[in-house]
Amino acid sequence: MTLADIQAAVGLRTPIRHQLFIDGRFVDALDGQTLATLNPHDNSVIAEVAMAGPADIDLAVRAAQRAFPAWSRLAAADRGRILLRLADLIEANAEELARLESLDTGHPLKDSLALDVPRTAACYRYFGGMADKFQGDVVPVEAGFLNYVTREPVGVVGQVVPWNFPLMFTSWKMAPALAAGNCVVMKPAEITPLSSLKIAELMREAGMPDGVVNIVPGLGSVAGQYIAEHPDIAKIAFTGSTATGRRIVQASAGNLKKVQLELGGKGANIVFDDANLTAAVNGSAWAIFHNQGQACIAGSRLMLHERIADEFLERFAALARSIRLGNPMDPQTEMGPLTSLQHRDRVLGYVDVAREQGGELLSGGRAPGGDLAAGCYVEPTIVRAHSHTDRIAQEEVFGPFVTVLTFKDDTEALQIANSTDYGLGSGLWTGQLKRAHQFARELHAGMVWINSYKRVNPGSPFGGVGQSGYGREMGFDAMREYTQAKSVWVNVDAQIAPWYPRA
Ligand code: NAP
Ligand code: MG
Repeated sequence: MTLADIQAAVGLRTPIRHQLFIDGRFVDALDGQTLATLNPHDNSVIAEVAMAGPADIDLAVRAAQRAFPAWSRLAAADRGRILLRLADLIEANAEELARLESLDTGHPLKDSLALDVPRTAACYRYFGGMADKFQGDVVPVEAGFLNYVTREPVGVVGQVVPWNFPLMFTSWKMAPALAAGNCVVMKPAEITPLSSLKIAELMREAGMPDGVVNIVPGLGSVAGQYIAEHPDIAKIAFTGSTATGRRIVQASAGNLKKVQLELGGKGANIVFDDANLTAAVNGSAWAIFHNQGQACIAGSRLMLHERIADEFLERFAALARSIRLGNPMDPQTEMGPLTSLQHRDRVLGYVDVAREQGGELLSGGRAPGGDLAAGCYVEPTIVRAHSHTDRIAQEEVFGPFVTVLTFKDDTEALQIANSTDYGLGSGLWTGQLKRAHQFARELHAGMVWINSYKRVNPGSPFGGVGQSGYGREMGFDAMREYTQAKSVWVNVDAQIAPWYPRA
């Protein structure tokens, strides 16, 4: 198939973008290298996308440096206005963006339309509105002095994101960085670069000045690593695995970059015996099976009170088996493929790990055959672990794979929930207000959902503790992450006794 055929087949109106976006222009990589991006439904090639190397990153950094003085001094409201226009353009191009995202990642089109695209627009709109509302302070200091604190942008910011929510994650990083007056060099994941290049096109249409935003698809080990090391990049914001996060911290040491890390998770989703079971069954399925479980905040440890475990699992497994797996472009599809074959095999590998450690497979556990055999599909999989210390209860699988554990009382529930190195999101289902708030306080996590799971909003801080990283996206916290305080002291009318009276 040619690019034009693919475009026609999925109903895209404009050509698939396949060049780097540097200094306001779409350009090939200097050495002409490309990488193939695939459709995970059948692993056909969708596009050959230019692959940035260090020389291209250097161009992007220099463009961002040139753009920074004017962009950072532009009235905040004017920066905001460009982001607000971008949000409108995302909505005007919603159908096309959703198709592109589904084609590249395997997200069911239904989800791309209802979640990814609206959430992306909402994020740009929120930070567009925030640009001129985020303000400094005046500090009450000693008499005769005025001390005021301004929030200055950091400078050129490097951003590296993974493949599980490419459209949303680029917005979570770029929107606050831009609102605060930084310039951006963004590296999307090598296997899902397409929606971010479409955003580059819309940025230009929204009036973003050249060089403020640069989007450079490429390999993590080359382009990503180079961004993390780059002496002229003042901050790196990273979302991805804990192992890569560690490498980024090491690479950042050269120029002591500011670092922000959103890493892995192993979310505890705790169902108490007084929970509304219907809500908990539905919510727990959403927690793990939405986006094929490829979410850092997935509820991948399903913890059930032993009194309700059997009934819950019967209903939960029946729901899991009824989920419609299929081509993401089919509007009926509820679960699509994983985003790459390599990742599918990694997820299936955990079914073997479970068996080796005495786990009991309750549902799924295979790659479906038939029409879906050529794609990266995995059935919704439920495994009961032998112990909460087993690998399947400790390691992030990042797929439609949920590990079931049981507990006998609140003390044991809390102990199991807090028994991993991660600390990103956790949820609990209960009818008792007191217990809910006690757990919210005690859970080792950056986010807690009560009688719900996996809610996000651009106003609410998102991030983790422990091996899940540090720093927060969204809300005022994100604006703080992308700025640094400058304290200015003014002697208004203070009489200072000389320290060296001889003079
Ligand atoms: P990954 O391997 O760490 O990759 C993430 C990004 O980092 C990709 O763009 C990757 O490039 C790049 N990269 C790889 N090596 C690099 C290096 N040495 N220096 C700089 N960049 C490098 O993660 P993944 O497996 O693709 O993504 C899944 C992980 O992301 C999971 O652990 C998940 O929990 C985590 N995640 C966390 C959050 C959160 O907010 N906490 C949200 C979503 C996902 P390539 O594309 O070339 O590999
Ligand atoms: Mg792809």
